[in-house]
Amino acid sequence: MATRRLYYDDSFEKEFTARVMHCEVLPPDLSKGITGTVWGLILDRTAFYPTSGGQPNDLGKIEDANVLDVRDEGDEILHLVDRRPASPEVNGCINWPRRFDHMQQHTGQHLLSAMFQERFGLPTVSFHLGAEICTIDLRGIEPSDAFLEGAERAANQVIFEDRPVNVRYGTADQLSRLGVRKEVEREGILRAIEIESADLQPCGGTHVKRTGQIGLILVRRCAKVRQDWRVEFVCGGRAERVARRDFQWLQQAAEKLSCAPEEVVPAATRALAERDTNFKNYRAVLERLAKAEAALALVAQAAPGPDGLRVVSRIFENVPADYLGFFATEVAKAEKTIALLATSEEGQLLFAQHPSADKDVNALLKRVLEQVGGKGGGRRDFARGKLGDAAKVQEAIKVGESLVQK
Ligand SMILES: [Zn+2]
Repeated sequence: MATRRLYYDDSFEKEFTARVMHCEVLPPDLSKGITGTVWGLILDRTAFYPTSGGQPNDLGKIEDANVLDVRDEGDEILHLVDRRPASPEVNGCINWPRRFDHMQQHTGQHLLSAMFQERFGLPTVSFHLGAEICTIDLRGIEPSDAFLEGAERAANQVIFEDRPVNVRYGTADQLSRLGVRKEVEREGILRAIEIESADLQPCGGTHVKRTGQIGLILVRRCAKVRQDWRVEFVCGGRAERVARRDFQWLQQAAEKLSCAPEEVVPAATRALAERDTNFKNYRAVLERLAKAEAALALVAQAAPGPDGLRVVSRIFENVPADYLGFFATEVAKAEKTIALLATSEEGQLLFAQHPSADKDVNALLKRVLEQVGGKGGGRRDFARGKLGDAAKVQEAIKVGESLVQK
């Protein structure tokens, strides 16, 4: 027996009575994603909206059972509940804040889609009502910022005029003659939602009674998804929450930048330019310091070993990896010199040589890493590595020194 869909005629019906037509424990594949025992309930009539047409299902109570999901099963509507009702006569009560939110978003979507189509010739090919954000996918040319703003403003104008939203019934032919936005090829009597003098669209969803109840539409980002343009938007209570949250973020950013909210963009631009300049200066100073320290190290290490090789080995504390690079490059400018460098915190290794030293620091690094553990590689004259355990940095340099002497 078909379930009578009370929401078709009155989407504001929050409570209803009904008779249980069928009740059984659902097998796990039907109650997928829901833990515990789940009963499937079919009633003779219901105000519970099942997931369909881009609108998520209602939640709520049937007697003292929680409604976990509502599904459209053709003629019947299946309610998934966590408890079996004690009597065949039941009271149902839908979670109204959730439903009203869905109605605000859904009617808002019809209106926004109508404005995109009418004013900018962009048809809506799909609609999604998410937990946070709603989206419509538009087909056609890329909507510019002016398009998005224009559609938003036109839709909000219709909201301010508080026009009636009516339910219409008719065959596909009749609706087509009335100028329906999207033609459908279904037999029989179709249901359509009319926003007076703005839109007519076949739809089985739940809608507000007047456009004023949408509250406000905020159009947000637009991004390309496959061949279409996905436009994010929020309506009503969501628009209020999103606008409030955005302002809080803006205020927090302004506080961090020590400026007024309207000054955030120029202040952030200045702060980033300053950061870039500082970074350049820092790199230049780092390089000069590394070179100076390398020159001192060469002087201190003036005496070459018996084979004429000079080995500069050093473990640095609190320097960035770049510092090793600058230091090594400077040391390796001196003839017959090898640099064996490391950082103590990160366990970075850098081995370099003047070509006249005539070793292979890449092979040397690999042998050290084999013994001490870590990864790395490079060229004959310059190689970098990283120890698996930074605490072994002393050991790594010792092994490197002894291998060089061989
Ligand atoms: Zn719809």
